[in-house]
Amino acid sequence: MARALNFSAGPAALPLEVLERAQREFSSYKESGMSIMEMSHRGKHYNRVHSEAKNRLKRLLEVPDTHDILFLQGGASLQFSMVPMNFLHEGQTAGYIVTGSWAEKALKEAQKIGRTKVIASSKEKQFRSIPQRTEWTAHEGLAYLHITSNNTIYGTQWHEFPETDARLVADMSSDILSRPLDIGKFGLIYAGAQKNLGPSGVTVVIANKEWLAAGSCPQSKFLDYNTHAEADSLYNTPPTFAIYMLGLVLEWAEKQGGTRGLEKKNREKAAALYDSIERSGGFYIPHAEKGSESQMNVTFTLADKDLETDFLAKAAEQGFIGLNGHRSIGGCRASIYNAVPLEACEKLAGFMNAYRKNHPASTFSFQ
Ligand SMILES: *Cc1c(COP(=O)(O)O)cnc(C)c1O
Repeated sequence: MARALNFSAGPAALPLEVLERAQREFSSYKESGMSIMEMSHRGKHYNRVHSEAKNRLKRLLEVPDTHDILFLQGGASLQFSMVPMNFLHEGQTAGYIVTGSWAEKALKEAQKIGRTKVIASSKEKQFRSIPQRTEWTAHEGLAYLHITSNNTIYGTQWHEFPETDARLVADMSSDILSRPLDIGKFGLIYAGAQKNLGPSGVTVVIANKEWLAAGSCPQSKFLDYNTHAEADSLYNTPPTFAIYMLGLVLEWAEKQGGTRGLEKKNREKAAALYDSIERSGGFYIPHAEKGSESQMNVTFTLADKDLETDFLAKAAEQGFIGLNGHRSIGGCRASIYNAVPLEACEKLAGFMNAYRKNHPASTFSFQ
Protein backbone atom coordinates (compact mmCIF):
# COMPACT_ATOMS: atom_id res chain seq x y z
CA MET A 1 0.00 0.00 0.00
CA ALA A 2 1.25 3.49 -0.87
CA ARG A 3 2.03 5.81 2.01
CA ALA A 4 0.12 9.09 2.21
CA LEU A 5 1.91 12.40 1.64
CA ASN A 6 1.21 13.36 5.22
CA PHE A 7 1.70 17.01 6.20
CA SER A 8 -0.47 16.84 9.34
CA ALA A 9 0.34 19.17 12.22
CA GLY A 10 0.02 16.58 14.97
CA PRO A 11 -0.34 13.73 15.56
CA ALA A 12 1.94 13.62 12.58
CA ALA A 13 3.83 11.32 10.23
CA LEU A 14 6.07 8.64 11.75
CA PRO A 15 8.96 6.95 9.96
CA LEU A 16 7.72 3.94 7.99
CA GLU A 17 10.52 1.73 9.30
CA VAL A 18 9.44 2.51 12.86
CA LEU A 19 5.85 1.51 12.09
CA GLU A 20 7.00 -1.69 10.43
CA ARG A 21 9.27 -2.60 13.30
CA ALA A 22 6.45 -2.01 15.78
CA GLN A 23 4.21 -4.15 13.60
CA ARG A 24 6.70 -7.03 13.65
CA GLU A 25 7.01 -6.83 17.41
CA PHE A 26 3.38 -6.03 18.05
CA SER A 27 1.98 -9.29 19.38
CA SER A 28 5.16 -10.91 20.67
CA TYR A 29 7.86 -8.63 21.98
CA LYS A 30 11.28 -10.32 21.95
CA GLU A 31 9.63 -13.72 21.65
CA SER A 32 7.84 -13.30 24.96
CA GLY A 33 4.45 -14.23 23.50
CA MET A 34 3.17 -10.88 24.77
CA SER A 35 2.84 -7.41 23.37
CA ILE A 36 4.88 -4.75 25.12
CA MET A 37 1.42 -3.28 25.90
CA GLU A 38 0.50 -6.36 27.90
CA MET A 39 3.53 -6.37 30.17
CA SER A 40 4.14 -4.99 33.62
CA HIS A 41 5.76 -1.59 33.67
CA ARG A 42 8.01 -3.02 36.41
CA GLY A 43 9.12 -6.07 34.40
CA LYS A 44 12.51 -6.59 32.75
CA HIS A 45 11.39 -6.02 29.14
CA TYR A 46 9.63 -2.75 29.81
CA ASN A 47 12.36 -1.51 32.13
CA ARG A 48 14.86 -1.88 29.35
CA VAL A 49 12.60 -0.04 26.88
CA HIS A 50 12.16 2.76 29.42
CA SER A 51 15.82 3.25 30.24
CA GLU A 52 16.95 2.88 26.62
CA ALA A 53 14.51 5.57 25.47
CA LYS A 54 15.79 7.87 28.19
CA ASN A 55 19.46 7.17 27.40
CA ARG A 56 18.93 7.61 23.68
CA LEU A 57 17.28 10.97 24.22
CA LYS A 58 20.13 11.98 26.54
CA ARG A 59 22.69 11.09 23.87
CA LEU A 60 20.80 12.60 20.95
CA LEU A 61 20.15 15.93 22.66
CA GLU A 62 23.46 15.87 24.53
CA VAL A 63 21.61 16.40 27.80
CA PRO A 64 24.21 17.34 30.44
CA ASP A 65 24.35 15.57 33.83
CA THR A 66 22.92 18.71 35.41
CA HIS A 67 19.59 17.89 33.74
CA ASP A 68 17.06 15.09 34.14
CA ILE A 69 14.64 13.61 31.61
CA LEU A 70 11.06 12.80 32.61
CA PHE A 71 8.30 10.96 30.75
CA LEU A 72 4.95 12.40 31.80
CA GLN A 73 1.35 12.40 30.60
CA GLY A 74 -1.23 15.11 30.01
CA GLY A 75 0.40 16.56 26.90
CA ALA A 76 2.14 19.88 26.59
CA SER A 77 -1.12 21.39 27.83
CA LEU A 78 -0.66 20.01 31.34
CA GLN A 79 2.83 21.55 31.37
CA PHE A 80 1.18 24.95 30.92
CA SER A 81 -0.12 24.38 34.49
CA MET A 82 2.63 22.27 36.01
CA VAL A 83 5.37 24.80 35.30
CA PRO A 84 3.72 27.63 37.31
CA MET A 85 2.39 25.22 39.95
CA ASN A 86 5.96 24.12 40.70
CA PHE A 87 7.91 27.31 40.09
CA LEU A 88 5.65 30.34 40.47
CA HIS A 89 5.09 30.93 44.15
CA GLU A 90 3.77 33.73 46.38
CA GLY A 91 5.52 37.03 45.75
CA GLN A 92 7.14 35.93 42.49
CA THR A 93 6.53 36.95 38.88
CA ALA A 94 6.88 34.75 35.81
CA GLY A 95 7.68 36.27 32.41
CA TYR A 96 6.06 35.13 29.17
CA ILE A 97 6.95 35.91 25.58
CA VAL A 98 3.79 35.55 23.58
CA THR A 99 4.41 34.42 20.01
CA GLY A 100 1.27 32.45 19.20
CA SER A 101 -1.81 30.61 20.42
CA TRP A 102 0.05 28.00 22.46
CA ALA A 103 2.06 30.70 24.21
CA GLU A 104 -1.20 32.50 25.02
CA LYS A 105 -2.63 29.33 26.48
CA ALA A 106 0.48 28.78 28.60
CA LEU A 107 0.22 32.36 29.86
CA LYS A 108 -3.48 31.95 30.74
CA GLU A 109 -2.78 28.92 32.91
CA ALA A 110 0.05 30.70 34.72
CA GLN A 111 -2.27 33.64 35.40
CA LYS A 112 -4.52 31.29 37.36
CA ILE A 113 -1.58 30.33 39.58
CA GLY A 114 0.31 33.57 40.23
CA ARG A 115 1.65 36.87 39.00
CA THR A 116 2.80 37.05 35.38
CA LYS A 117 4.27 39.65 33.07
CA VAL A 118 4.29 39.70 29.28
CA ILE A 119 7.89 40.52 28.39
CA ALA A 120 7.18 40.73 24.66
CA SER A 121 4.40 39.82 22.26
CA SER A 122 4.01 39.66 18.50
CA LYS A 123 0.21 39.53 18.70
CA GLU A 124 -0.26 43.00 17.20
CA LYS A 125 1.77 41.82 14.22
CA GLN A 126 -0.53 38.79 13.73
CA PHE A 127 2.19 36.60 15.23
CA ARG A 128 4.29 36.91 12.06
CA SER A 129 7.60 37.18 13.86
CA ILE A 130 9.62 36.46 16.98
CA PRO A 131 10.09 39.69 18.99
CA GLN A 132 13.60 41.14 18.85
CA ARG A 133 15.46 41.54 22.09
CA THR A 134 15.16 45.34 21.73
CA GLU A 135 11.36 44.98 21.93
CA TRP A 136 11.42 43.25 25.33
CA THR A 137 10.37 45.06 28.48
CA ALA A 138 12.35 44.78 31.71
CA HIS A 139 12.73 41.22 32.91
CA GLU A 140 14.77 41.27 36.08
CA GLY A 141 14.06 38.97 39.01
CA LEU A 142 11.64 36.65 37.22
CA ALA A 143 10.81 33.22 38.62
CA TYR A 144 11.31 32.04 35.03
CA LEU A 145 10.92 33.20 31.45
CA HIS A 146 8.63 31.12 29.22
CA ILE A 147 8.98 30.94 25.45
CA THR A 148 7.53 28.75 22.69
CA SER A 149 10.43 27.65 20.50
CA ASN A 150 8.27 26.90 17.45
CA ASN A 151 4.82 28.32 16.87
CA THR A 152 3.02 25.45 15.26
CA ILE A 153 -0.07 27.41 14.21
CA TYR A 154 1.56 30.60 12.87
CA GLY A 155 4.70 28.97 11.49
CA THR A 156 7.36 31.01 13.25
CA GLN A 157 10.39 29.76 15.16
CA TRP A 158 13.14 31.04 17.44
CA HIS A 159 16.33 30.64 15.43
CA GLU A 160 18.52 31.62 18.36
CA PHE A 161 17.66 31.38 22.01
CA PRO A 162 17.95 34.46 24.19
CA GLU A 163 20.67 34.92 26.77
CA THR A 164 18.90 35.71 30.02
CA ASP A 165 19.53 35.58 33.74
CA ALA A 166 16.09 34.08 34.27
CA ARG A 167 15.48 30.34 34.19
CA LEU A 168 14.46 29.76 30.60
CA VAL A 169 11.43 27.50 30.09
CA ALA A 170 10.57 26.42 26.56
CA ASP A 171 7.60 24.67 25.01
CA MET A 172 9.37 22.70 22.27
CA SER A 173 6.44 20.49 21.31
CA SER A 174 6.79 21.10 17.60
CA ASP A 175 10.53 21.34 17.07
CA ILE A 176 12.32 19.24 19.67
CA LEU A 177 14.93 16.97 18.06
CA SER A 178 14.80 18.93 14.79
CA ARG A 179 18.17 20.64 15.42
CA PRO A 180 21.04 20.61 17.92
CA LEU A 181 20.28 22.38 21.22
CA ASP A 182 22.30 23.75 24.09
CA ILE A 183 20.20 22.12 26.79
CA GLY A 184 22.34 23.65 29.56
CA LYS A 185 20.80 27.05 28.73
CA PHE A 186 17.34 25.92 29.78
CA GLY A 187 15.75 25.54 33.17
CA LEU A 188 13.08 23.31 31.67
CA ILE A 189 11.98 22.11 28.25
CA TYR A 190 8.74 20.28 27.56
CA ALA A 191 7.27 18.65 24.48
CA GLY A 192 4.25 16.52 23.69
CA ALA A 193 5.63 13.62 21.63
CA GLN A 194 3.10 13.56 18.81
CA LYS A 195 4.83 16.00 16.47
CA ASN A 196 8.50 15.14 16.34
CA LEU A 197 9.09 12.30 18.78
CA GLY A 198 6.47 9.59 18.44
CA PRO A 199 2.79 9.00 19.08
CA SER A 200 0.62 11.02 21.46
CA GLY A 201 0.42 9.90 25.07
CA VAL A 202 3.86 10.77 26.39
CA THR A 203 5.24 14.20 27.18
CA VAL A 204 8.98 14.67 27.48
CA VAL A 205 10.31 17.06 30.14
CA ILE A 206 14.01 17.92 30.39
CA ALA A 207 14.88 20.03 33.40
CA ASN A 208 17.72 21.29 35.51
CA LYS A 209 17.92 18.96 38.52
CA GLU A 210 18.74 21.64 41.07
CA TRP A 211 15.89 23.82 39.92
CA LEU A 212 13.48 20.88 39.94
CA ALA A 213 14.45 20.05 43.50
CA ALA A 214 13.95 23.68 44.53
CA GLY A 215 10.43 23.71 43.07
CA SER A 216 7.40 22.08 44.65
CA CYS A 217 3.68 21.62 44.23
CA PRO A 218 2.15 21.43 47.71
CA GLN A 219 -1.38 20.97 46.32
CA SER A 220 -0.68 17.73 44.49
CA LYS A 221 1.89 14.99 44.76
CA PHE A 222 1.20 13.88 41.21
CA LEU A 223 1.70 17.36 39.75
CA ASP A 224 5.01 17.81 41.59
CA TYR A 225 7.93 17.18 39.22
CA ASN A 226 9.95 15.73 42.09
CA THR A 227 7.52 12.83 42.42
CA HIS A 228 8.37 11.73 38.90
CA ALA A 229 12.06 12.63 39.07
CA GLU A 230 12.54 10.55 42.23
CA ALA A 231 10.70 7.57 40.72
CA ASP A 232 12.46 7.72 37.33
CA SER A 233 9.06 8.41 35.73
CA LEU A 234 7.68 5.16 37.19
CA TYR A 235 5.70 6.63 40.07
CA ASN A 236 2.55 5.26 38.49
CA THR A 237 1.92 3.38 35.25
CA PRO A 238 3.59 5.33 32.45
CA PRO A 239 2.23 5.27 28.86
CA THR A 240 4.31 2.20 28.09
CA PHE A 241 3.43 1.78 24.41
CA ALA A 242 4.01 5.46 23.64
CA ILE A 243 7.43 5.30 25.33
CA TYR A 244 8.27 2.13 23.40
CA MET A 245 7.39 3.97 20.15
CA LEU A 246 9.41 6.99 21.27
CA GLY A 247 12.39 4.65 21.72
CA LEU A 248 12.00 3.34 18.17
CA VAL A 249 11.77 6.87 16.76
CA LEU A 250 14.94 7.82 18.66
CA GLU A 251 16.75 4.79 17.28
CA TRP A 252 15.69 5.93 13.80
CA ALA A 253 16.87 9.49 14.58
CA GLU A 254 20.34 8.15 15.45
CA LYS A 255 20.50 6.51 12.03
CA GLN A 256 19.65 9.87 10.41
CA GLY A 257 22.82 11.34 11.89
CA GLY A 258 21.22 12.65 15.08
CA THR A 259 20.15 16.25 15.45
CA ARG A 260 22.80 17.47 13.00
CA GLY A 261 21.70 15.08 10.28
CA LEU A 262 18.07 15.86 10.94
CA GLU A 263 18.66 19.61 10.91
CA LYS A 264 20.39 19.43 7.54
CA LYS A 265 17.51 17.45 6.05
CA ASN A 266 14.92 19.73 7.66
CA ARG A 267 16.59 22.78 6.13
CA GLU A 268 16.44 21.26 2.66
CA LYS A 269 12.79 20.35 3.16
CA ALA A 270 11.80 23.82 4.34
CA ALA A 271 13.86 25.49 1.60
CA ALA A 272 12.01 23.54 -1.10
CA LEU A 273 8.69 24.95 0.12
CA TYR A 274 9.80 28.49 0.98
CA ASP A 275 11.51 28.73 -2.43
CA SER A 276 8.32 27.75 -4.16
CA ILE A 277 6.44 30.44 -2.18
CA GLU A 278 9.09 33.07 -2.80
CA ARG A 279 9.33 32.38 -6.51
CA SER A 280 5.58 32.54 -6.95
CA GLY A 281 5.75 36.31 -7.40
CA GLY A 282 3.05 36.92 -4.84
CA PHE A 283 0.75 34.05 -5.81
CA TYR A 284 1.52 32.41 -2.45
CA ILE A 285 2.07 34.70 0.52
CA PRO A 286 4.11 33.46 3.47
CA HIS A 287 2.67 34.18 6.92
CA ALA A 288 6.02 34.40 8.72
CA GLU A 289 8.30 37.37 8.30
CA LYS A 290 11.83 36.81 6.99
CA GLY A 291 14.11 35.69 9.78
CA SER A 292 11.30 34.12 11.82
CA GLU A 293 10.22 31.33 9.47
CA SER A 294 9.66 27.93 10.97
CA GLN A 295 11.56 24.95 9.60
CA MET A 296 8.71 22.74 10.85
CA ASN A 297 5.43 24.42 9.88
CA VAL A 298 5.36 26.32 6.59
CA THR A 299 2.32 28.62 6.68
CA PHE A 300 1.01 30.57 3.71
CA THR A 301 -2.10 31.93 2.05
CA LEU A 302 -3.04 32.43 -1.59
CA ALA A 303 -3.17 36.04 -2.80
CA ASP A 304 -6.50 35.19 -4.36
CA LYS A 305 -8.40 34.08 -1.26
CA ASP A 306 -11.15 32.56 -3.40
CA LEU A 307 -8.68 30.06 -4.81
CA GLU A 308 -7.70 28.67 -1.43
CA THR A 309 -10.51 26.11 -1.14
CA ASP A 310 -9.80 24.96 -4.67
CA PHE A 311 -6.05 24.74 -3.97
CA LEU A 312 -6.64 22.61 -0.88
CA ALA A 313 -9.15 20.39 -2.70
CA LYS A 314 -6.81 19.83 -5.65
CA ALA A 315 -3.95 19.10 -3.29
CA ALA A 316 -6.09 16.53 -1.47
CA GLU A 317 -6.97 14.93 -4.83
CA GLN A 318 -3.24 14.53 -5.45
CA GLY A 319 -2.83 12.77 -2.11
CA PHE A 320 -1.44 15.64 -0.02
CA ILE A 321 -2.93 15.27 3.47
CA GLY A 322 -3.26 17.83 6.25
CA LEU A 323 -2.51 21.06 4.39
CA ASN A 324 -5.33 23.07 5.92
CA GLY A 325 -4.21 25.78 8.29
CA HIS A 326 -5.23 25.49 11.95
CA ARG A 327 -8.98 25.88 12.42
CA SER A 328 -8.36 29.12 14.34
CA ILE A 329 -6.65 30.99 11.45
CA GLY A 330 -7.32 29.14 8.19
CA GLY A 331 -4.93 29.43 5.26
CA CYS A 332 -2.52 26.63 4.40
CA ARG A 333 0.13 24.92 6.46
CA ALA A 334 2.58 22.18 5.58
CA SER A 335 3.95 20.53 8.70
CA ILE A 336 7.27 18.96 7.84
CA TYR A 337 8.51 17.35 11.03
CA ASN A 338 11.51 15.00 11.12
CA ALA A 339 9.64 11.99 9.73
CA VAL A 340 8.31 13.77 6.62
CA PRO A 341 10.66 12.77 3.76
CA LEU A 342 12.40 15.32 1.54
CA GLU A 343 10.73 13.69 -1.48
CA ALA A 344 7.28 14.52 -0.08
CA CYS A 345 8.31 18.17 0.30
CA GLU A 346 9.72 18.29 -3.22
CA LYS A 347 6.51 16.77 -4.54
CA LEU A 348 4.46 19.39 -2.75
CA ALA A 349 6.68 22.21 -4.05
CA GLY A 350 6.22 20.76 -7.54
CA PHE A 351 2.47 20.69 -7.07
CA MET A 352 2.43 24.29 -5.83
CA ASN A 353 4.41 25.43 -8.88
CA ALA A 354 2.13 23.54 -11.25
CA TYR A 355 -1.00 24.90 -9.57
CA ARG A 356 0.29 28.43 -9.86
CA LYS A 357 1.09 28.00 -13.56
CA ASN A 358 -2.45 26.81 -14.16
CA HIS A 359 -3.80 30.12 -12.91
CA PRO A 360 -2.34 32.74 -15.22
CA ALA A 361 -5.27 35.05 -14.55
CA SER A 362 -4.03 35.78 -11.04
CA THR A 363 -1.27 38.06 -9.88
CA PHE A 364 1.82 35.98 -10.50
CA SER A 365 4.67 37.00 -12.69
CA PHE A 366 7.98 35.29 -13.26
CA GLN A 367 10.95 36.77 -11.50
C1 LIG B 1 0.59 20.80 19.83
C2 LIG B 1 1.15 21.79 20.74
C3 LIG B 1 0.71 21.90 22.07
C4 LIG B 1 -0.41 21.07 22.63
O1 LIG B 1 0.04 19.80 22.87
P1 LIG B 1 -0.84 18.70 23.63
O2 LIG B 1 0.15 17.60 23.80
O3 LIG B 1 -1.98 18.37 22.73
O4 LIG B 1 -1.30 19.27 24.91
C5 LIG B 1 1.33 22.83 22.87
N1 LIG B 1 2.32 23.62 22.42
C6 LIG B 1 2.76 23.54 21.15
C7 LIG B 1 3.87 24.44 20.69
C8 LIG B 1 2.19 22.63 20.28
O5 LIG B 1 2.63 22.55 19.01
